[in-house]
Amino acid sequence: MRNPEDAIKKWAIGQNALVAGIASASDIDQLQAEGHRPSDILPSAKSVIVIGSLPFAGTWRIPDYKVVGEVAFQCNEELYRIAYHMADYIESKYGYESLFPPPDSIGNWSPLLDIKRCAEMAGLGSRSLAGEMILHPEYGFLYFAVTITSMPLVSDGPLKDPVCPAPSCVRLFEKIGTTPCMNACPDCLSGTIKDGRIVSSRYDRNRCATRAQSTSPPALQRQILGAAEETNPAKRKMIVLGDYFSRSVKSLSYRSHLDATCMECWRPCPVGMKYRVKK
Ligand code: SF4
Ligand code: SF4
Repeated sequence: MRNPEDAIKKWAIGQNALVAGIASASDIDQLQAEGHRPSDILPSAKSVIVIGSLPFAGTWRIPDYKVVGEVAFQCNEELYRIAYHMADYIESKYGYESLFPPPDSIGNWSPLLDIKRCAEMAGLGSRSLAGEMILHPEYGFLYFAVTITSMPLVSDGPLKDPVCPAPSCVRLFEKIGTTPCMNACPDCLSGTIKDGRIVSSRYDRNRCATRAQSTSPPALQRQILGAAEETNPAKRKMIVLGDYFSRSVKSLSYRSHLDATCMECWRPCPVGMKYRVKK
């Protein structure tokens, strides 16, 4: 009979996840600040199951980068559905407490759980120079979702060797001092590579957010304030009924507007490129 680790991963992949891995909840607990640990969400937590997937290759052909992020984010919505049902699957089949933690932030950019950390600890990739997004060795950048459970499972653990930088990025950095991701967004990203390994990495999250999350809830709050402070009724009307405000309001009901990145730093990464290019 298949062990439960394989059975759970196979179930997730059968539901449309591309990859699945398992992390130890207590290992993640030790690395996370209080309030952001798996056991802060589910006190009986023993394991964190992470699933990942890729946007369709067609997504990368969309000319407008704002639309790319929104279309790609649908992949996340699908993962959330699978992770939610995985909690039900584990509770029904194995009888262990399980849940799908909400992916939303509890503060402006303070997620309840660090999904990147969970993916790393489940062996699904390593931090990259592209804003520390997790890079999977085969598929490149993925979206992730998690299920936390009290079921004790054997952890996959972090990868032994980092995926980033790719060999071609090391060569490029040695030649011209940058890599495809940093070159795509030098204002937000910078870093150094030595002996084939990342030595330093900078990601300007505040700057990235003003470019890539311009219709996020904080952006909407600022627009409401701007409209409230506008004394000219005609201008106030233009703000509230305008396209930008409308997109931001829509973001409250259609999540892909909330958190989508512009993905320009993701686009040129050589890792997983073959899955982003089709006929
Ligand atoms: S998501 Fe866009 S704005 Fe943010 S770091 Fe990447 S390329 Fe830059
Ligand atoms: S482009 Fe190169 S340096 Fe940048 S994330 Fe991809 S592998 Fe890493």
